[in-house]
Amino acid sequence: MRILLVDIDSRIPNLALRKIQIYHKADTVEYVRVPFHTRPRNWSSNNIKSKLKGILPYVETAARTYVSCLFKHNRPLAEEISKYKNTIIGGPGWDILAKLPEDIDKIVPRINMGYTTRGCNRNCEFCIIPRAEGRLRVVGDIKDFWDGKAKAVSIMDNNILQAPDHFWKIAQQLCKHNLRVDFMQGLDIRCVDRGVCKILETLKFEGSLKFAFDNPNMYGIVEEKILLMREYKIPRDLFFYVLCGFNTTFEEDKKRVEWLVSKGCDPYVMKHENIHFDSRYRRLTFWANKVWPQKMYGLDEWLKKSDKGANNARSAKDSKKRKCVLRCDTKTFPLGSKYMQR
Ligand code: SF4
Repeated sequence: MRILLVDIDSRIPNLALRKIQIYHKADTVEYVRVPFHTRPRNWSSNNIKSKLKGILPYVETAARTYVSCLFKHNRPLAEEISKYKNTIIGGPGWDILAKLPEDIDKIVPRINMGYTTRGCNRNCEFCIIPRAEGRLRVVGDIKDFWDGKAKAVSIMDNNILQAPDHFWKIAQQLCKHNLRVDFMQGLDIRCVDRGVCKILETLKFEGSLKFAFDNPNMYGIVEEKILLMREYKIPRDLFFYVLCGFNTTFEEDKKRVEWLVSKGCDPYVMKHENIHFDSRYRRLTFWANKVWPQKMYGLDEWLKKSDKGANNARSAKDSKKRKCVLRCDTKTFPLGSKYMQR
């Protein structure tokens, strides 16, 4: 049987598709990925067709097609594929409550990244995890997904610090096998205390140690925890996801980003879909998420400069368009040609 896996928008290895691939190991499994695309304002049917051009012929001939759609704005691509028979679509962009069948879900690929807990006991308004996964529970440990050879693993848990005993066990495993770790989704800064700091001190990290600063009401607690961590031998380059535009103004978001930089931390702007096409946020994101603009310019200076740059680029683009129109005209109707004389 020919099985097709379609990955619409993963930016990291897609765990669900890997599970399905292992489940169908007795079949011929093919994997295709929609070419990388930025989010369009509207998906026109031409746009959809051009994105799926190389993929639909495979879908047509596969015995079964599994599609992963992580982001809601890419749903039209999944809808187009769903018109073909024997297509199964999943992922939070399609249905946040969709789950893999149990016999597929229980497969744990040894790809050095995975979950040791699922769910979360908090209830942040903007987050789908509590609805999709429920309350926090332990589901495994490092040995389930570590291949035994890699020097680093990525833990995808949403809030591992809510299970302190389990966190301690995982830390022991990491130390025992001398593994570097990346807590990809970030640790909950509110759960950091002296006990957690002592554990973090013993770990080696792959990349930065990540947290989130999503709510402007958290200045006090974030500052307190940064100071606490500075007392221990924890890497100084703390990284913070900063959710912007959910229920905050641009000024509030800008202030949070600047404040983190002033504390020696690395902010990483996560744009909520409310403000996705707001050009101010595009400039803020560029400054926050890249190192060089921060080193060369203050935030206000950058916002002003990049706005001016964008305007210049826009007018250059317009004049190029005008030139292009003229060139086309002369090509179609060359001056002095018989066609023009008629
Ligand atoms: S703490 Fe994190 S995972 Fe839990 S609900 Fe809030 S954002 Fe979601």
